[in-house]
Amino acid sequence: MSIEKTVKKTPQQQQQQSRPGGPGGRPGQQGRPGGPGGRGGRQGDRPRRPRREPVVEVWEPKTILGRKVASGEITSMEEIYEKGYRILESGIVKKLLPDLKTEVIDVGLIQKMTPNGQSTRFKALVAAGNQNGWLGIGLGKSKQMRIAIEKANNAAFLNVVPVNLGCGSWECRCDRKHSVPFTVKGKSGSVTIEILPGPKGLGLVAGGKIRNLLKLAGVKDAWTHTSGSTATMASTSKALLACLKQTWSQG
Ligand SMILES: [Zn+2]
Repeated sequence: MSIEKTVKKTPQQQQQQSRPGGPGGRPGQQGRPGGPGGRGGRQGDRPRRPRREPVVEVWEPKTILGRKVASGEITSMEEIYEKGYRILESGIVKKLLPDLKTEVIDVGLIQKMTPNGQSTRFKALVAAGNQNGWLGIGLGKSKQMRIAIEKANNAAFLNVVPVNLGCGSWECRCDRKHSVPFTVKGKSGSVTIEILPGPKGLGLVAGGKIRNLLKLAGVKDAWTHTSGSTATMASTSKALLACLKQTWSQG
């Protein structure tokens, strides 16, 4: 007991000491000697941490490719892909595709037993797309939700791949890029996705999450066919990326 008491007392003493010196004398000081019982009602007096100003990050390129992009030597993502460079900085993608939007597709818990008990981590799946032919999906894991999403964001930027949009619909036969150029099929895990070109004005015939991903990629009109457990977003997003990669396979 005696140990507990000393432990409990010290933070209070520290608070009392620091209180008079704090910025702007706080009005509720006389309530403090009431001891640990008086805790509940004094939430309003608790010193507030000053709100952090949103820092506008200036991108400093660290790789050769990054420097080339920053200096204006390389001006498009297509160029990077044609030359087969590897992107290691998300800043490159952010600069060349400024209209890229990110969307959190899925979040989840990872739990495992360790000798010390259970460990819990978070995972997040984020998609990045500009609704005009570029899509990337990234996975991030961390003990904190926010960091997991940040990591996933970064990974999604790095994984951005081009999608060959077109119009493969015999009902439409236009040359505009509103659908896929032909039927494509992709598989990952148990999930199989098939995307069929549709005529203009059809919209996306797909389940909610797949529809979001197709929209981010820039596909506007298409039918989809799925089988397997599409609730597993990790597999579903991979299968969809496999589909979209196939748009380059022919023609
Ligand atoms: Zn068309």
